[in-house]
Amino acid sequence: MRIAIYPGSFDPITKGHIDIIDRAAKMFDKIVIGIFDNNQKNPLFSMQQRINMIKNIFKDNTHVEVICFKGLLADFTRDNNISVVIRGLRAVSDFEYEFQMALTNKKLNANLETVFIPAREYYTYLSSSMVKTLARYGGDVSPFVTDEVATALYVAYGSKRC
Ligand code: ADP
Repeated sequence: MRIAIYPGSFDPITKGHIDIIDRAAKMFDKIVIGIFDNNQKNPLFSMQQRINMIKNIFKDNTHVEVICFKGLLADFTRDNNISVVIRGLRAVSDFEYEFQMALTNKKLNANLETVFIPAREYYTYLSSSMVKTLARYGGDVSPFVTDEVATALYVAYGSKRC
C-alpha cells in the first residue's frame, strides 16, 4: 500500500490544501493528513477543531486519514512506516524553505522522499494566514474555505460580513 503524509498546521484548512489532498489521493492509496502540534505557532484553532474540520471535509473519502503529531516528521514517518511526504508549492518564495526541509528530512530519515505538488493557479496566493486576516475584518472568505470553516472563522473573530 502506498501511503503518503501531508503535514502542516492547517490553521485552518483552505481550498488550496483540499486541492493538493485531492490530487495526491489519485497518486497514493492513502493520504495521512498530519497536523503538526506546534506550540510556538500559537494557532487560532485548537487541535480538536482542526481535526474535526478536516474530518468533516473528507468524511466520504476512506483514503484520507487525519492525525496529529508532535516532534520531528522524520521520526514520525520512520515509526509509522511512511516513506513519502507531500508538500504544496505555491510560489518561488515557498521553494527555498521547502527545499531546505526536504533535504533536512532526508538527512534524518534516508528512506523519506518529498513529493512537491504545484498549487493550482487560482490558489497560488492563498494561505491560512491570508484567510484569517480577511475573516478578522469581516471579508468574504467563501471562495477560499468551506462553509463550516468560514463560520468557524467568523465565530473565532466575532465578526460578521456586512
Ligand atoms: P506549514 O505551517 O507547514 O506551512 P500549512 O498548513 O501552511 O503548514 O501548509 C501545509 C502545506 O500546504 C505546505 O506544503 C504548503 O506549502 C501547502 N499549501 C498551503 N497553502 C496552499 C495552497 N493555497 N495551495 C497549495 N499548497 C498550499
